[in-house]
Amino acid sequence: MHQGEFRERVLRAYRHQCALCRLRHEVLLDAAHIIPDSEPDGAPEVNNGLALCRLHHAAFDRFFVGIRKDYVIQVRPDVLREHDGPTLRHSIQGLHNRRIILPRKRVERPAIDLLAERYERFRDAPIPV
Ligand SMILES: [Zn+2]
Repeated sequence: MHQGEFRERVLRAYRHQCALCRLRHEVLLDAAHIIPDSEPDGAPEVNNGLALCRLHHAAFDRFFVGIRKDYVIQVRPDVLREHDGPTLRHSIQGLHNRRIILPRKRVERPAIDLLAERYERFRDAPIPV
């Protein structure tokens, strides 16, 4: 599957909204990989994808947030304790313990094993100093 097709299918599965914050501006949405496409398990399949806005794509890739296999968002503990302005408070810390938006079709939902693998990396990621 081509990247363009992957993007189309992922965005459609998530009804063109960010899985974390529901932002619906398509130009600000990406089809993110749960397991990177540079890896053998990183297939360009919808169940290895998430529709994420630019902010949440970067936050997910850089391990600011993780998604448990029960689809609940976890914010990295040090980020959760941080004090900063409204963007951090609402757009990052406010996600903690909330569930992501899921595709209606079961087969398009994030694969549990891929999410679990990714979450393990999130949990083990070193905290930047
Ligand atoms: Zn978002």
